[in-house]
Amino acid sequence: MSSLKKKVVIVGGGITGLAAAYKLDKEYKRKGTDIDITLIESSHRLGGKIHTVHKDGFVVEKGPDSFLERKKSMSRLIQEVGLADRLVPNSTGQAFILMNDKLHPMPGGAIMGIPTQIKPFMSTDLVSMTGKLRAAADFVLPRSKGADDQALGTFFRRRLGNEIVENLIEPLLSGIYAGDIDQISLKSTFPQFYQLEQEHRSLIAGIKKTTPAPQMDRNGNKKKKSMFLTLTSGLQSLVDTLEEKLAEATILKGVKIESIDHASSGAYSLKMNNGEFLEADSIIFAVPHLAAHAIFYKKNLLSQFKDVPATSVATVAMAFPKDAVTQVLDGTGFVVSRNSDYTITACTWTHNKWPHTVPEGKVLLRCYVGRAGDEAVVDLADDQIEAIVLDDLNKIMKVEAKPDWTIVTRWIDSMPQYTVGHKERLNNIRKELQSTFPGVYLAGGSYDGIGLPDCIDQGEKAANDVLDYLIHDR
Ligand SMILES: Cc1cc2nc3c(=O)[nH]c(=O)nc-3n(C[C@H](O)[C@H](O)[C@H](O)COP(=O)(O)OP(=O)(O)OC[C@H]3O[C@@H](n4cnc5c(N)ncnc54)[C@H](O)[C@@H]3O)c2cc1C
Repeated sequence: MSSLKKKVVIVGGGITGLAAAYKLDKEYKRKGTDIDITLIESSHRLGGKIHTVHKDGFVVEKGPDSFLERKKSMSRLIQEVGLADRLVPNSTGQAFILMNDKLHPMPGGAIMGIPTQIKPFMSTDLVSMTGKLRAAADFVLPRSKGADDQALGTFFRRRLGNEIVENLIEPLLSGIYAGDIDQISLKSTFPQFYQLEQEHRSLIAGIKKTTPAPQMDRNGNKKKKSMFLTLTSGLQSLVDTLEEKLAEATILKGVKIESIDHASSGAYSLKMNNGEFLEADSIIFAVPHLAAHAIFYKKNLLSQFKDVPATSVATVAMAFPKDAVTQVLDGTGFVVSRNSDYTITACTWTHNKWPHTVPEGKVLLRCYVGRAGDEAVVDLADDQIEAIVLDDLNKIMKVEAKPDWTIVTRWIDSMPQYTVGHKERLNNIRKELQSTFPGVYLAGGSYDGIGLPDCIDQGEKAANDVLDYLIHDR
């Protein structure tokens, strides 16, 4: 590398861009590499989809509220920046599925809706006896033929039948991807299920063999294990701490990147919406795929992204006095089957799942609206969304009172849909990008995993790619 300071620009100040900037900053200090880091964010705050609000003693997450404990990169980053003492696991409890106007307990042992224990599965009324017998066909059905990608719906319907898919698997998956199970790629979302089928033929047998036996309590009952973690101070506190740690980087907020071009110096030129240009030797685009598509539009690159759907959702947080919710809510919340006549798609009983976020004597219900094929509700006015959600809650849980307050947050085109062929499409796009714009990388929720830990992995990998590129390839 020449002695001239190399310029790295990171576009997008969500968790992916922040993780990339932090990694680059740390690594270049460690290796003594001389680089100049600029992080550009189009809005006036960092965090992207992470956004915590503190109100009347509540900690309200407008976007993500937690992350999967088993994916380690988020807790590792939290520890690295000194927030480990704020990590808290979710309180465990019964989760429900709303079907035919009734909340049904999720059968014990179900993993992503896939039954793994006979007794609780046989006693659930979410699936008819015919549906249960159909699911048992999984033990004898052959493996999927060939290694081509397929839709999650195709895979699960073939193995376990339609009823389990519609009443158990789809509501849960839709809670994660807000998507259409018959379009979402198996290989890009749950490759482990394909792998299990290939290795064990039966999906149920494969899961049973590879899942550790549950721990027992003193009375011989299965211990429920918490799967999620969050920060007592809200996820935004990780964003704020990363921003503080990036004191030596330049952070521009309220500046949008409009397009990219080759600069005469051999580097790249980014056009900003304030009319100015910024030069960069290497760039990480940590923005959603539709934003990346717009930036590369004039270069005729990333055009395939325009056909990749992204679903709009809204979160609706409602605070009540405890006695306003008359039905006893003993559990963590529910997801809604598509075979139900409701607008909300899920509801977390936040005061039970995350008790530290809710003051004594209060209840916080955090609902979702909007999913693939059913997004129009997200465009309604706040009071209309509030009225629809309250009407649903009243029917489901007899919530008749008006909330003390409601926070509606719209997330437009926010849930990227990894449709069948996602991996291959992305590989092709990346190859094309590297041949025209070497040293330019894509990372974030639209690409190699939607969860917060996946985004951190991607940000850090992109940072390593940038360093490799600057040190070895130029
Ligand atoms: C409602 C909701 C709930 C979720 N819940 C969870 C959860 O509980 N757990 C979990 O693990 N995951 C959850 N997710 C997914 C997770 O939040 C996201 O995948 C992740 O936050 C994406 O981070 P990112 O940095 O890749 O993208 P983003 O957070 O979208 O950040 C991208 C940033 O780029 C900026 N930007 C865009 N275009 C430009 C441009 N041209 N120039 C400059 N800046 C630009 C944007 O303003 C934005 O700040 C949820 C997502 C949503 C929407």
